[in-house]
Amino acid sequence: MAEDKKETEKIARCAMCADMCKYSCPTYLATGRETLTPQKMARLIVYSGKGFLEDEDGFFALMFQSAMCGACKRHCIYGDYDLRRFIQEARVKAFARGIIPQDVKQRVEIFKKFGNPHGEREVVDKGKGETGYFISCSSYKDKDLLKAADKVLAESGLKVRQFGGGDICCGAPLYYAGDMEGFYKASLRTKGEIEKRRLRKIIVDCPTCLKMMTETYREVGLNLEVELIHTTQFIGTLLQQGKFNIKKANRIVTFHDPCILANDLNITNAPREIITSLGYTLKEPVYSQEHTHCCGAAYGAKIGDHRLKDAATSMRMKELRDTAADVYVTACPTCKSVLSGINMKYITELVAERIVAQR
Ligand code: SF4
Ligand code: SF4
Repeated sequence: MAEDKKETEKIARCAMCADMCKYSCPTYLATGRETLTPQKMARLIVYSGKGFLEDEDGFFALMFQSAMCGACKRHCIYGDYDLRRFIQEARVKAFARGIIPQDVKQRVEIFKKFGNPHGEREVVDKGKGETGYFISCSSYKDKDLLKAADKVLAESGLKVRQFGGGDICCGAPLYYAGDMEGFYKASLRTKGEIEKRRLRKIIVDCPTCLKMMTETYREVGLNLEVELIHTTQFIGTLLQQGKFNIKKANRIVTFHDPCILANDLNITNAPREIITSLGYTLKEPVYSQEHTHCCGAAYGAKIGDHRLKDAATSMRMKELRDTAADVYVTACPTCKSVLSGINMKYITELVAERIVAQR
């Protein structure tokens, strides 16, 4: 109860705030729409709680227009506050009342039928060992990424069991749709798949999957009891240990920080260390590391109202293109696919290209 009161005080404080964090909110920057700034969202959430809003449908539609990227948490003048918690609560209410955007509804239906957000897929299960490599729904269809992962894993000399596809999914699409019951079921299924394979450590290439499997699963009372790391942490350690025979590159790379990787998982150094250790010269866009902007995937790919996606994607592509790099790289398979307009690569591909086979 005391906890609830504290949280209510925080959102009331946010609703009255000077709102300077809006200059880090990609939704606002890409659209210029004041209603979508963190403070205005907070004000509407407070008004909705008091029953002051006449247009409930409009309110809930707005709640699906946040990228849930965490820039407002990162740049909040109060260190103990995350507006997304309240946006998520509103989405849960919207889902319970059946007032969710049409494309979100469709994605949930596909998920309920196939156990993943993209429709029919086969389960991938190859390799052996107590270390797993989780193939996320976005990597599943990315042949270049999967090929690069195969090469890096083979050259590492480690035993790694790759798994994913079918109905093995972290459940993020259901979470962001506000379907907490469905999300809990998906998280239980994932836990079962991990336990079945007796894995002790899992490498995850998608920042959202990693956030779900750690932070969000714990919030719903589920602990996976395995060590979970991001691909960049895994590859970074192998490079430090000198596990690969690397042919150095001498081109210019710009790295795009995936919003969840930078804002929620605090991973910004590992990818940069990988890039420079391959010999590349690293260039930074104006907004990078904790100032990064969402690529736009969060609106559509993770479930939300995707009408904003194109505006956010164009803005981010321009910021990256302005660096005039030779190669653009990221560490999220969804960012890679959304930013394909600038020929984006996933970081494992960059590493695989520089490895000279040892055996
Ligand atoms: S998120 Fe923080 S900085 Fe932004 S409007 Fe709310 S209280 Fe102010
Ligand atoms: S989560 Fe991102 S898009 Fe949503 S209000 Fe915060 S900064 Fe804006």
